[in-house]
Amino acid sequence: MPRVWYNILPDLPEALAPPLDPETEEPIKPEKLLRIFAGELVKQEMSKERYVEIPGEIRELYAKIGRPTPLFRATNLEKKLGTPARIYFKYEGATTTGSHKINTALAQAYYAKKQGIERLVTETGAGQWGTALSLAGALLGLKVRVYMARASFQQKPYRRVLMNVYGAEVYPSPSNRTEVGKRFLKEDPNHPGGLGIAISEAIEDVLRNESARYSLGSVLNHVLMHQTVIGLEAKEQMKEFEEPDVIIGCVGGGSNFAGLAYPFVKDVLDGKAEYEFIAVEPKAAPSMTSGIYTYDYGDSGKLTPKMKMHTLGHTYYVPPIHAGGLRYHGLAPTLSVLLNHGIVKPVAYHQTEVFEAALTFARSEGIVPAPESAHAIKAAIDLALQAKEKGEERVILFNLSGHGLLDLKGYDDFLEGKLQDYEPEEIPALNGMI
Ligand SMILES: *Cc1c(COP(=O)(O)O)cnc(C)c1O
Repeated sequence: MPRVWYNILPDLPEALAPPLDPETEEPIKPEKLLRIFAGELVKQEMSKERYVEIPGEIRELYAKIGRPTPLFRATNLEKKLGTPARIYFKYEGATTTGSHKINTALAQAYYAKKQGIERLVTETGAGQWGTALSLAGALLGLKVRVYMARASFQQKPYRRVLMNVYGAEVYPSPSNRTEVGKRFLKEDPNHPGGLGIAISEAIEDVLRNESARYSLGSVLNHVLMHQTVIGLEAKEQMKEFEEPDVIIGCVGGGSNFAGLAYPFVKDVLDGKAEYEFIAVEPKAAPSMTSGIYTYDYGDSGKLTPKMKMHTLGHTYYVPPIHAGGLRYHGLAPTLSVLLNHGIVKPVAYHQTEVFEAALTFARSEGIVPAPESAHAIKAAIDLALQAKEKGEERVILFNLSGHGLLDLKGYDDFLEGKLQDYEPEEIPALNGMI
């Protein structure tokens, strides 16, 4: 298991644009962030240290939740596709909570506890992040409160139960507990919610309670850094086999993609390797393929600092696709820079073709993937089929960010032919509405 996390900030091809204070539009002062986040996380967010030591207590907790996670070769899938490509995947679904989110949840809860914080408040889309933070809170002795996008709250009732089992409070978002929530409920009493709205509710909640802090499950530098345990492990594990040619991950805010890819990106930035990186998003939330690179809020209620990133606009209505963890308007600023420099290439798919790929995978490898992770599978299958056409022996490595055993409603809807594909109706960022 790695002893350090990898921080890409000092290696980026250009410096990150600073986050802006939403009130003054000036670069935000770290003091302001300290009211929202635990202090050590604010420090890590801006750190120029390339390798940050993982505290021993966190490494012990990583072992408890199943790290290092296994790396598999998908030999049955290769046979089914009849491809000369070799397909490997890192399986983050093997962790206790079933996704990669626990990697940063444990770190965030650890630093909060050390600082004497009593409660962590957060948002969740599909529920994986909320579940991970709930378990981290239980293991470290912190209260956890979760605002869960209403579409997922209804589609995935067992995710809520799981969070309750770990001792957390869970509210559907938009809720009438916050001013932001009330505003969206007034617009539409059955508003499906989304990550952007749930983030605003969580922050508003934190600002009312001095002993609470906010936790974010993706997008920010420190979150992506904690996730690099995935790629650092995968690098060691791949050494026993071969060098990958292509590295693939699905993208909501960018954390599981970055977690697997950034340790390999470092070698490309250093001129030591020539990996290809493919980031996969849903066509219903196409921040990479249809968004623009500009300053925008991280949430729908405009409470977060403004970040320079690929965005659809914080007012973008994200259709209720089953991959709830990918229903986000923005993108991690560091990943945005790598896209701008052509180091990472984006691709977008519709949900029905993604579920089709998920079934192919489940029926050959046995693992039922999360609908989010199935986006990466779809891209891996497409590449493997291209390799077959060209007769190329490509080595593909993708991140299987989570299992889908609590996403069976989505599978049921797909099998019954009830799932629809969504084209964005309107992308506010393209109309200058940021
Ligand atoms: C949250 C989640 C995602 C999307 O978030 P990223 O920060 O982009 O990784 C993808 N897969 C799973 C299983 C998730 O839980």
